[in-house]
Amino acid sequence: MKVIKIGGGCLHGKKTIARILDLVEEKAKGHIIVVSALYGITDMLIDGMSMALESDENIPGITSRLKARHMLIARYLINNKNDLAEFSRELNKNIGKLERLYYGLNFTREVSPRLHDILSSFGERFSARLLTAILRSRGIKAICRMPHKIGMLTDGKFGDASADLNQTTKNFQQHINPLLKKDTILIMPGFYGVSKAGDITTFGRGGSDYSAAVAAVAAKAEILEIWKDVDGFMSANPNLVPAAKLIPVLSYSEAAELAYFGASILHPRAMEPVRRKKIKVEIKNTLNPDAPGSLITARSPRHKSVIKSVAHDTDIGILKVHASGVGARPGILALVAGCLTESGINIKSVVTSQTCISLLLAGNDLETGRQALTAISPRPYRTIETTDDLALISIVGEGLFQKKGIAARCFTAVSEAGVNVEMISFGPSRAALYFLAKTKDLNKAVSGIHSTFFS
Ligand code: ASP
Ligand code: MG
Repeated sequence: MKVIKIGGGCLHGKKTIARILDLVEEKAKGHIIVVSALYGITDMLIDGMSMALESDENIPGITSRLKARHMLIARYLINNKNDLAEFSRELNKNIGKLERLYYGLNFTREVSPRLHDILSSFGERFSARLLTAILRSRGIKAICRMPHKIGMLTDGKFGDASADLNQTTKNFQQHINPLLKKDTILIMPGFYGVSKAGDITTFGRGGSDYSAAVAAVAAKAEILEIWKDVDGFMSANPNLVPAAKLIPVLSYSEAAELAYFGASILHPRAMEPVRRKKIKVEIKNTLNPDAPGSLITARSPRHKSVIKSVAHDTDIGILKVHASGVGARPGILALVAGCLTESGINIKSVVTSQTCISLLLAGNDLETGRQALTAISPRPYRTIETTDDLALISIVGEGLFQKKGIAARCFTAVSEAGVNVEMISFGPSRAALYFLAKTKDLNKAVSGIHSTFFS
């Protein structure tokens, strides 16, 4: 049995969705489908929060646009009056709930993490119901189950939850596996689960990949297929490097590092659950369903030059904390890191020297981070500096550190491209090396490294 994840990028207009459903009809019987929200819907839900905060007059517009997007597809693809009426009734009920939540937000003038997660989870609920209704109207046995009904249990951390794998597995064996029949398709919304206390908690943006990975483990699937609108992992971003090639096989670590370092193919934590149970993952292009795609397994064949891909991420910033002797002062790193964590900021990486702690953050966390540190009193540092014109470039490949000369080749290529390296880290991973360069040099650096390792 498989778990198939259908990404929001494949759930665009009515024609694309119709084609995806043809594929589902052909390939998904007897399997579980985990769906993302329709393309752009999660963004609409999130943008709706600031619009609702601004004025309650914005609320009817937000919800009617959301309703219209789904009804347009429903009218086009649910070819049976009763199924359409039932879908529309259910949608209206949920749109009503959504509307009340937006009014509540406007009234309390606050978006709590709890409310943020509840509101942003609506897109997946809508899409799961919509796909189920369309399939049923085609005469296919499709069942939809919501995460709270089947016990997709989380640790309760809003906005960045992790699943309780053991308990979720027990719950799936009880509630999901008995429903799996040869001719039935089981559909569930991705992106969120519920905590022990019953709170809706999301797995972070792009979290449906992670949901699908958890579902694959919990239902004891043989394989996890991720359906996307691209072929799979590439040796570099083809927009920067036209010669970039598909990576046919990767290891879990390589895929995780690439996801973490900016190849926006997968949720960064999606490999954690499947790696434990050694469930194979296949990335499939729905626009080209018979193409091989990328396969992720425990072992991957080593490329001659070890390196599988050059990834990059421009959505980063560096927060530099200058203080004398930071390298030797116990406690300062913990103080700084603790303060950032309390402000909900994830530290991607840290490099320290005698006089400076450099923290690598997501670009949009930079200002919040600076403000949080400025508020510490007494100040444990001399000055703080932020830089956001940097890009993170990484080379990823298992065995990178065992084979001599890889780093030298990488940095020779960078220097031959006339690019200055701002900061280097070998990171905690054995499969990735990364460095920072000025954003304006990104293209030159990535192309230079790619041609060194791949031509
Ligand atoms: N819909 C959510 C998002 O846009 C989750 C997902 O698609 O994976 O982040
Ligand atoms: Mg995604």
